[in-house]
Amino acid sequence: MDLFDSHAHLDMKAYRPGQVAGMLARSWEGGLVGIMAIAGATRVGEYEETLEIAGTDARIFAAAGIHPHTGSGATPDALDKLRFALDHNRVLALGEIGLDYHYNHSPPADQRRAFIRQLRMAHQVQLPVVIHTREADGDTAAILRDEGADALGGVIHCFSSGPEFAEKVLDLGFFISFSGIVTFPKAEAVQAVARTAPDDRILAETDTPFLSPLPHRGKENEPARVRHVVEKLAELRGVVPEDLAQTILENTRRCFRIPVILD
Ligand SMILES: [Zn+2]
Ligand SMILES: [Zn+2]
Repeated sequence: MDLFDSHAHLDMKAYRPGQVAGMLARSWEGGLVGIMAIAGATRVGEYEETLEIAGTDARIFAAAGIHPHTGSGATPDALDKLRFALDHNRVLALGEIGLDYHYNHSPPADQRRAFIRQLRMAHQVQLPVVIHTREADGDTAAILRDEGADALGGVIHCFSSGPEFAEKVLDLGFFISFSGIVTFPKAEAVQAVARTAPDDRILAETDTPFLSPLPHRGKENEPARVRHVVEKLAELRGVVPEDLAQTILENTRRCFRIPVILD
C-alpha cells in the first residue's frame, strides 16, 4: 500500500537524538512514499531544521508558516523570514496557518491578522495553503472566502469539524485531511464527513507527534501510522484500503502540485 502522510512535525524540540531518523526509517519500511513536513509550527521563524531534513530525502516535502498559536509573533520581521523560507526548493505550501480559538495562545484578533497576512503572501508566491482550524469554523470559512483562497487551493488539515464546514471548504476547492481522530469512537461528526467526502478531495495525515490513531492512541505518533488512518477511512467508505491509498496519493500530489512521486 502506497501511503503519504500529508502532515507531520519533524522539528519538535522534545524529540530525542535519533528519534526522527528512526521515525523516517520505519516510514519507508511501512510503505510511505512521501511526507509533508510542517516547518516552524511550534517556533516562529525556525524553519531550517525541517528544511534540512527535507534536503536529505526526495520523499520529504515541506510547508512553512506561522501557526495560529503563535499568531502574535507574526511581526514584519517574522513575515520576512517566512517569505524567505518559501523560496526554498522543498517548500510546496504555506502553512500551517489559521485560527485556534480552543487554546487562544494568541489573542483571536492577532490570529486573524496573521492568518490574513499569510493568505495574501500565499497569493504573492502562488502556493497552496495548509489550514489549521479549531473551534473557529465560522471565521476560518469567512476569511478563506474573503481572501480568495479558492484561487490558492490547499487543505484543511486534521479535519475535526462536521458536514456543514466540510461543505463550505469543499465549495472553495479545498481538500480535507483526516488524522487519527477519525479512528476515535466518539468522532462521529468527523466520521460522517469521512464517509461522504468526495473521492478526489480526501487526504490522510498523522499530525506527528500528536493524535496517534487507534490502536496506538495516547502514544507519541509517527508517520508510519498513517496506515491506520487510511484503513479506517477505507472501512468507513466500504472500499479496499490499497485502492483508497492510491486515490489519496493522487489527491496529495494534486493538492501540493507534486510533479513526480518517486517509487
Ligand atoms: Zn494543526
Ligand atoms: Zn500541525
